[in-house]
Amino acid sequence: MRIGSPREIKTQEHRVGLTPMAAQEAVAHGHAVLIETGAGLGAGFDDAAYRAAGAEVVATADELFARAEMVVKVKEPQAQERARLREGQVLFTYLHLAPDRAQTADLLSSGVTAIAYETVTDAAGGLPLLAPMSEVAGRLAPQVGAWSLQKEQGGRGMLLSGVPGVGAAEVVVIGGGVVGTNAARIAHGMGARVSVLDRSIPRLRHLDEVYGGAFATRYASQAATEELVAAADLVIGAVLVPGAAAPKLVSRAQLSTMKPGAAIVDVAIDQGGCFETSRPTTHDDPVYTVDGIVHYCVANMPGAVARTSTIALGNATLPFVLALADKGWRQALEDDPHLLAGLNVHAGRLTCFPVGEAQALDV
Ligand code: NAD
Repeated sequence: MRIGSPREIKTQEHRVGLTPMAAQEAVAHGHAVLIETGAGLGAGFDDAAYRAAGAEVVATADELFARAEMVVKVKEPQAQERARLREGQVLFTYLHLAPDRAQTADLLSSGVTAIAYETVTDAAGGLPLLAPMSEVAGRLAPQVGAWSLQKEQGGRGMLLSGVPGVGAAEVVVIGGGVVGTNAARIAHGMGARVSVLDRSIPRLRHLDEVYGGAFATRYASQAATEELVAAADLVIGAVLVPGAAAPKLVSRAQLSTMKPGAAIVDVAIDQGGCFETSRPTTHDDPVYTVDGIVHYCVANMPGAVARTSTIALGNATLPFVLALADKGWRQALEDDPHLLAGLNVHAGRLTCFPVGEAQALDV
C-alpha cells in the first residue's frame, strides 16, 4: 500500500503523522511511504531522515493526497485538505467529529474511509491513541505549573521542591486518571507534596497500591476539594466525564480562599475546564490572572513538546497503521473490533453512534 503523511497545516501544529521509525517499519513490510517535504521538521525530523528510512519525499500536499492510498495525519483535515480526499482512500487521524458539522459533511461527501484515533479502543476499555497525549499533558502540567508559580508570571514566587530549611509546595491534582497520575508522579519527582482527589474509589485504591508513599489520595467530596484547594500552591485540573463537558469543581468564589499567587493548570480545558474561571489560552500567551490566581489553560499542551508527542503518538498508531496497510482496511477492521471502533465515516455513511447522536444524523 502507498501510505502518505502531509505537513500539518493547522495553526501551531508541529507534530507529524508518521515518524521516520514508522516509515522504516512500513517499508520493511513492503509498503511505499510518501512524506511531504518539511512535514517532520517541527518534530525534529528532516527530509533526509525520511529518505534514510526508505520513504519518498514529495514536493506538495496535492501530490501526496493524490498518490497516497492511506493518509496518516495528526489533526483533523482542514478544509483545503478535505477537498483533496477521495473515494476509496483511507484517512487515519484525530477527527473529533461530534462538534464539527462542516468536517462531517465534507468527509461524507468525499467518500473517504475515515478512522479516528480518539475512538479506537483497547481490551481494558481505554483509548490507546488518546492515552499517550494524556501522558504528555499530565507530565507537562507540573512543569508549566512550576513556571506559573514564578514571580514574573504573577505567581507567588515559590519553588516546587523548596530548598533545605524551606518547605516544598503543596500540589493538588483533581482527577487521578491518565493525566492526573502522570502529573502527580512528576510533581512528586520535582519534590512537591502531592495529593490526588478522585471520585472513583477503584482509581484511588489503584493509586494507593502503586504509589502509596509518594502521594496522598482523597475522595473528591466537595468538602475535601475545598479544603485541599485552599491549602494548595498549585492545583492541576485533570477530570474527565466521558462524553460530557468537564464538571466545574472550583467556583470563582473559592479563588478567594486560595493563597495569593497560587497557580491553576486546567488540563481539562479541552472539555471546557474544571474551574469556573478557566478559559482556553494558547502557547503564545498561556497564562492570565483572576483574583490573584494564575491560570494556565492551554488546550493543546502536547504541541509544546512536539518531538516527544510525535514519537509517543507514532508508537501507539504504528501497529494499527501496519495492520491497515498489510491486510487492507476491510480485513483489518474485521479482525480487530477495537480498530473497528475507530471507523467514523465510510463511503458516504456515518458509522459512529456518538457522532450521529451529536449531530442528529443517521448512522
Ligand atoms: P481519564 O478518564 O484517564 O481520567 C479522568 C479521571 O477524572 C478519572 O479517574 C475520573 O474518575 C475522574 N473524575 C471524574 N469526575 C470527577 C470529579 N467530579 N472529581 C474528581 N475526579 C473526577 O482522563 P484523562 O486522559 O486523564 O484526561 C483528563 C482530561 O485531560 C480530559 O478532559 C482530557 O481531554 C484532557 N486532556 C487535555 C490535554 C490538553 O492539552 N489540555 C491533553 C490531554 C488530555
